[in-house]
Amino acid sequence: MKRISFLGLGIMGAAMARRLLDHGFDLAVWNRNPARADSLVKAGARLAATPADGACGADAVIAMLADDDASRSVWLGDAGALAAMDRGAIAIDSSTLTVEWMRELGAQAATRGVSFLDAPVTGSKPQAEQGTLNFLVGGDAAAVARAAPLFAIMGRGHVHLGGAGSGALLKLINNFMCGVQLASLGEAIAMAERSGLDIRRAADVLAAGSPGSPIVKMVVERMVTRDYTPNFLVPLMVKDLTYAMRTFAAEGIELADARAARERFIEAAAAGYESQDIASVVEPLRRR
Ligand code: NAP
Repeated sequence: MKRISFLGLGIMGAAMARRLLDHGFDLAVWNRNPARADSLVKAGARLAATPADGACGADAVIAMLADDDASRSVWLGDAGALAAMDRGAIAIDSSTLTVEWMRELGAQAATRGVSFLDAPVTGSKPQAEQGTLNFLVGGDAAAVARAAPLFAIMGRGHVHLGGAGSGALLKLINNFMCGVQLASLGEAIAMAERSGLDIRRAADVLAAGSPGSPIVKMVVERMVTRDYTPNFLVPLMVKDLTYAMRTFAAEGIELADARAARERFIEAAAAGYESQDIASVVEPLRRR
């Protein structure tokens, strides 16, 4: 594992790619908007003209993209990465995507002699920068063992959950729970403010008490101070909840809480917070 290609240099991808570069890997980078690659290229990465160009000769290709459509076009579209990969190389998709698409991509990779891992992450921008993400991995055990050193550099490690799609499945379950908690936190903060409670004291009590899960602890301060600097964009949470609802529905479970939470994030996007952090889910509630 010397030559790595990284496709998708958004908030998460740029930070993950930077860690690989800082650890001495021979790194090719590609992003739809190439300007987002500038700082990595200045630091020594090679700018690939297309995903295929980046994938050529790579031992591993890692993608970190918005959604299923973006992932499909980057792996399988015109000048897509998969067709350019060497037999025996590893394709890794760390985006939050559907189980169906991950299984389909895994099957396509297998026909080309390429190993595939779905390896979405828990953690956000700070964890990506610090290399403390956790990779939720689905795929063949031998490929997981080969990719483990990469996971250890970009994260604090990985959990191998089973065959292709199992990482994606747990990630959707994980983000369903995160989305519901943040929507309810937004409602709680709006209620506390409207009722005239001291918002600082109220937030401290909630964060320190039983409702204070790690994500509540991480986001409550941003809601109180109205700091919506993007860590995790609002439309990505809408996407995650949509994918989770679809996945659960296929198993006969209607995610009523996810449906309600998804409406809150859609309201935030419609209220002008589409390019802002998910903490902004509180704003439409504040304005009512
Ligand atoms: P982001 O900053 O919005 O970056 C999205 C990336 O996808 C950009 O590189 C963007 O390219 C690319 N992209 C979007 N549509 C595309 C298309 N049609 N074709 C090619 N490239 C396309 O998002 P992020 O926060 O880095 O998240 C990336 C993935 O990680 C998502 O699946 C997200 O759900 C997941 N995730 C995010 C977090 C978080 O805290 N942010 C945590 C865990 C998992 P351009 O720059 O050209 O638009």
